[in-house]
Amino acid sequence: MKKFVVAAVASALMSFSAQAQESALTQDMIDHAKSLGERAYNSSLTEEIITSLTTEVGHRLAGTANDKKGREWAKAKMLAMGYDRVWEEPVTIPLWHRGSASLSMTKPFQHNLALVALGNSVATPEGGLTAELVQFDEYKDLVAAEPNSLNGKIAYVSLRMAKTGLKGYGYAGQARRNGSVAAAKAGASAIIIRSIGTDDNRTPHTGSMNYAEGVKQIPAAAISNPDADLIDNALKYGKPVTLHLEMSSHTHDPVVTYNVLGEITGTDEPEKAVMIGAHLDSWDLATGALDDGTGVSIVMSAGKHIIDGGVKPKRSIRVMLFAAEEEGLYGAHEYVRAHKEDHKDFDNTILGAEWDSGTGRIVDFAPGVGPTSLQTVREIGAVLAPYGVATLMTNNAKGQSDMSALGNAGMPAINLGMEPTNYFDFHHTPNDTLDKVDMPAITHNAAIYAMFAWMAATVDVDYKK
Ligand code: ZN
Ligand code: ZN
Repeated sequence: MKKFVVAAVASALMSFSAQAQESALTQDMIDHAKSLGERAYNSSLTEEIITSLTTEVGHRLAGTANDKKGREWAKAKMLAMGYDRVWEEPVTIPLWHRGSASLSMTKPFQHNLALVALGNSVATPEGGLTAELVQFDEYKDLVAAEPNSLNGKIAYVSLRMAKTGLKGYGYAGQARRNGSVAAAKAGASAIIIRSIGTDDNRTPHTGSMNYAEGVKQIPAAAISNPDADLIDNALKYGKPVTLHLEMSSHTHDPVVTYNVLGEITGTDEPEKAVMIGAHLDSWDLATGALDDGTGVSIVMSAGKHIIDGGVKPKRSIRVMLFAAEEEGLYGAHEYVRAHKEDHKDFDNTILGAEWDSGTGRIVDFAPGVGPTSLQTVREIGAVLAPYGVATLMTNNAKGQSDMSALGNAGMPAINLGMEPTNYFDFHHTPNDTLDKVDMPAITHNAAIYAMFAWMAATVDVDYKK
């Protein structure tokens, strides 16, 4: 027994000293990282890039001519900035077109309602459909609806998204993502939901929705918060509320779009790379400034600051602009598939961090790495502390947005968290435009990404260990 304790202490000491050896972040590295931060804070590049993207390209709905325009823009910009290598990797996606959509209340009162089709939705029959509405407080109530209980009706989920950022979004968003399947199982002809958004404008929020194998595909759309309030008030009269819904959205045969990558090639192990990413595609209702123009400009400019800093990282830094995130993370899933199955080099993507959170300042740094490398990763985090970024003591980050597909496939990840913002007032609406972007905040974020990515790619550590 005593012997065992001694052995356990010895092995704990050994693992402690092994951890200490892994901490290879040198003062030179820290000094250079800080000089990159200095460079970024004194630059207007992040602002210039997002202004250029939203002005010259506009929306970037996956698979459309504007999507291609966006990719050409990104490649030309990164080549002009001096990235060592810029390339595309193909991603096959279903091509969805929004078409037109309208909704009116016909009984017991007459109103035109502000509505938007959900991404991937099918159309109504020609001439639209008129049906009585059946209200559900939230998604789980709709799931509990009996088969055939909604035959010939329009299901309506009235839950208002809580103003709790991603948490509120994830919860209320179930109705958007999976409500059509639940409604169709109960026999509904269509589903409308209260927008997954926190504003009180008559600008409904789009977003992707799913169909399921073997379940009838029914039209799905979102109404604005004030229009949902109007329906809720009409329901209080206790009389049937009847709606007329007309939508022409549709999906074409699959098309090929591309992930766009730009690389700063590492000096020692160029095949290995730290990936900083964002998604280049957007919905078609606006210029996609917040979602995800901010991410595109943050990671592209972070790379440029690293190039201008003049010291190459030891391993490569890849700026990844994912394709078709909005319709369902198509670019990210295809990256995982292609690099695991075709190229067999997925493990060379050693660490990843995405920005797809709009315009808030980065205030925390959350690792998801192996237990031995954690100490070094926390040292990287500590360099960011004077800039207002706190390292969280958790170690379970799986990557945000697209990067979650890579994280779930085994890539170590860092999640950079932001201060609360009014992102979900504008998210996926015609109001997602440049004026909503907090330029000093995204400049700060680019500085954090530049410092983090350069240190992470240069320090000698295995993030899986
Ligand atoms: Zn996004
Ligand atoms: Zn989005």
